[in-house]
This record gives sequence, C-alpha cells and structure tokens, in this order.
Amino acid sequence: MDTLLDDNRRVEEEHPVYLFLIKAAVLLFPPVLLAAIVLPGYYLAQAGFGFWLLLLIPLGLLASDFTSGLFHWFFDNYGTPQTPVFGQTIELFRVHHDLPQDICKSNFTFTVGHVCVWSVPMIAAHLLVYLWIQPPLLFSAWTVFFSTAHMFLILTNQFHKWAHLPEKPEWLLWLQKHRFVLDTPHHEVHHTPPYSSYYCITTGWMNPFLYKIKFFPRMEMLLAKIGINKAEQQPQIGVKATVS
Ligand SMILES: [Zn+2]
Ligand SMILES: [Zn+2]
Repeated sequence: MDTLLDDNRRVEEEHPVYLFLIKAAVLLFPPVLLAAIVLPGYYLAQAGFGFWLLLLIPLGLLASDFTSGLFHWFFDNYGTPQTPVFGQTIELFRVHHDLPQDICKSNFTFTVGHVCVWSVPMIAAHLLVYLWIQPPLLFSAWTVFFSTAHMFLILTNQFHKWAHLPEKPEWLLWLQKHRFVLDTPHHEVHHTPPYSSYYCITTGWMNPFLYKIKFFPRMEMLLAKIGINKAEQQPQIGVKATVS
C-alpha cells in the first residue's frame, strides 16, 4: 500500500498538529540557526579566534553534504515504503528517480519543513545550553560547526529542488555554476540508472571524493556482511529520467 497521498504529499501533511509544528519550525529556522552560528562566532572573534570560522563554516557545509548523501543512499537502497517511521521518506526518494520534476511542486514550507521540524528544536536546545554555561572555546567552535551543518542540511532539499527547476533565474544559475549549491549537470550523474552514485545533494562537493574511494559500495558490502541487504529495486517508469 502506498504511503503517499495522490499528489505525492506525505500523509502527515494533512494532520493539523503536524502542520502547525512544521510551519512554526520553518518560521523559527532563520532566527534560531543564525543565532546559533553568529553568537558563538562572535565569542570566538572576541577571544581572538575569529579565523577559526574560515575552517568551521566550510567544514559544516561539507558535513551537511556528506550527511545528505548518507541519508539519500540509505533511503534509496534499504527498507521499503512499508518500513515503520521512514516508509514515506523511502517512497519519496524512490519515486523521485522516476518522477524527478515532482519535487518542484512543493512549496518552501514543505520542501524544508520535514527537516526543520526535528532540526530546529534540537539546535534551539543546543543554543540554550550554550547560553546557560560559560562557553569554553571548543564548545563555541563545535556550536558553529554543528549549527552550520544543520542550516545547510535544512536547505538541502531546497538546493535539490533548484537543481530540478526547468527554468532558473540568473542568480541561481550563478550559484550553481560556481557550485555554491547543487549543480544540475552534476546531479544528473545520480539520476542516471542504476542511481548508485553521487548521492550528496547539498552542494555535491563530496561526491567525486566518495566515488573515488568507493565509499557507498564498500558500505553496502560491509552491511551485507552483517546480514543487512539492499532492497530489491522497484521497476522503473522510464529508462532515464532527466533532471530538468
Ligand atoms: Zn536517489
Ligand atoms: Zn534529484
């Protein structure tokens, strides 16, 4: 039984409590995440370690790209639409290979909201702890890194959606061309059957490296050794679904 609604929305998007939570989380996303990066960043700068930010922010972005790849790989290959809790997410990832344009139908709230709903409260709690204690330098550095990674993880689905837009404004083409966000031709590598590489979808910066070291095939071999096997691939609607 499919776990998505007819128009490809998740079942929980119909629930008023979840709708309230998702909208609240999306509204709180900019102030909470900015505070969680700017406050510890300012503290580091005041202590004479502002140059750490030049390393921490790109590292946070790389961590987001890697995490996006890890989740994407897992949901593409393991479990089924009937898997508890993650079933709808698994189905969305697999349907996306056959119907890549469907992601463009989602508005901003639903594009980023499903990550916001767990990530924003977690960062808010982290920020409260940070403000509560006398923050040591390393905890400030960790907070900048952790919050930057979460900010880009929240934005990942928006970057992914942009890669699929049939028509893009000039500013977005510039961002994609300079690889600040996921670039369409780069993402097309993943959309080529058997959809088994280039899983990272924040900026895609990690993809060539992970491909070179055969990271995902090795993870699959490792999991197979402990008895966790890939799901059978669903029949595909088209032979090759183009990205845009
Ligand atoms: Zn995929
Ligand atoms: Zn895609």
